[in-house]
Amino acid sequence: MPNERKTIEVDGERLTYELCRSARAKKISIRIHPGPEEGGRVVLTVPHRASVRRGERFLSEHAGWVLGQAKRLAGQETMLSRTSVREYRKRRAEALHFVRQKVEQWNTVYGFTYDRVTVRDQKTRWGSCSKRGNLSFSWKLLLLPEQMADYIVVHELCHLKEFNHSSRFWNLVTQAIPEARHIAKELRKS
Ligand SMILES: [Zn+2]
Repeated sequence: MPNERKTIEVDGERLTYELCRSARAKKISIRIHPGPEEGGRVVLTVPHRASVRRGERFLSEHAGWVLGQAKRLAGQETMLSRTSVREYRKRRAEALHFVRQKVEQWNTVYGFTYDRVTVRDQKTRWGSCSKRGNLSFSWKLLLLPEQMADYIVVHELCHLKEFNHSSRFWNLVTQAIPEARHIAKELRKS
């Protein structure tokens, strides 16, 4: 069955989304797909056992986030789910402290210059480094084995110097984490 297209209004802004009723989904979630339309496609998934009204309430509660993401969306898929939002809010400050400390600690090896370090509720990526030197990490680094969190921090740090995955990049990463390639493989499996 194709998704039903619907619209809700939040603070005077119209938010069009697709409603997906799912037998397999375990929780209500919002996904934003990069799409041909401006701002991408917003898909609200509601498990069969939950009501559409509850789904819509979840969507309107997070409409600010959705509209912001949809506008900012630069080609990557993003997802938000009910439990992780609650968790994220609770642990955001702790996560930020954790990654800032890691960045500082590992940058003693490199001495790179970076701008901002932020934490986000990103599901599809563990970390990212912008061309302007901003480092951003998923709050879920907190939940990883420490060795993996270290690797992710070092990986993004090294993008400050090498904005690619060339052998020069990997040489840089392995200066701090000799077993980096192995950890990267493990992480892809998880
Ligand atoms: Zn990378």
